[in-house]
Amino acid sequence: MSPVDELRSATIPDWCPGCGDYAIVMSVKAAIAELNLDPKDVLIVSGIGCSSKLPHYVQTYGFHGIHGRPLPIATGAKLANHGLKVIVISGDGDCYGIGMSHFIHAVRRNVDLALVVHDNQIYGLTTGQTSPTSDFGFKTKTTPSGSIENAVRPLSLAIAAGGTFVSRGLAGNPKHLTGLIKEAIQHRGTGFVDVLQPCVTFNKVNTYAWYRERAYDLALTGYQPTDRAAAAEKAREWGDKIPLGLLFKEEKPVYGD
Ligand code: SF4
Ligand code: MG
Repeated sequence: MSPVDELRSATIPDWCPGCGDYAIVMSVKAAIAELNLDPKDVLIVSGIGCSSKLPHYVQTYGFHGIHGRPLPIATGAKLANHGLKVIVISGDGDCYGIGMSHFIHAVRRNVDLALVVHDNQIYGLTTGQTSPTSDFGFKTKTTPSGSIENAVRPLSLAIAAGGTFVSRGLAGNPKHLTGLIKEAIQHRGTGFVDVLQPCVTFNKVNTYAWYRERAYDLALTGYQPTDRAAAAEKAREWGDKIPLGLLFKEEKPVYGD
């Protein structure tokens, strides 16, 4: 059995066929395996949502928390046991809606954990309502005439909050995503990966094809992730072109030092 297969739990995922969540769980497992982490040293904490079923599917320690609260739970676990590698799994509703304040505070504290957000721009588990990252004009059953709210831009928020590792991956590009998750786990501080994750059942706009037309890899453009002002500017880019990869990284003391 390969190291990735050894991380498969006995629970069968019940996500919809084709959901981007499958690529994310594969990337999380690949990252753990490629870093040679012992499963007994890894804790995966989640909130509520389709995303947050993920800890059930990986043979490490896991904690399926309550809506919007995986970050405070994970912070407590990390402070109690500095030897744990803590990975937080959340969604756009969980992290940028219900748990928004926890997101800002974990990032500004630089809690030593990896934060992987399944960002599908919709509430999937509750069958398709507008979420904090839904674009202006996005139509769902809660906004039949189109959303009248401007979308939250998670990377901009993280950079403004003093984030020390701010990145974006795409579920349609699992190899690239695995690399980002590995770096986020290894980063000393809050390793934040916003993952663009097609919800094939309820989001018919932000599809794999939609992202393929727009997403590009920052690392291939000569971009250097070392300047916070440049990263803030880059984080505003959305629409016709969507940057993927590491926008900003710096070393700083972590909460708990
Ligand atoms: Fe994935 Fe959407 Fe189905 Fe949830 S509802 S499992 S996010 S495709
Ligand atoms: Mg969602």
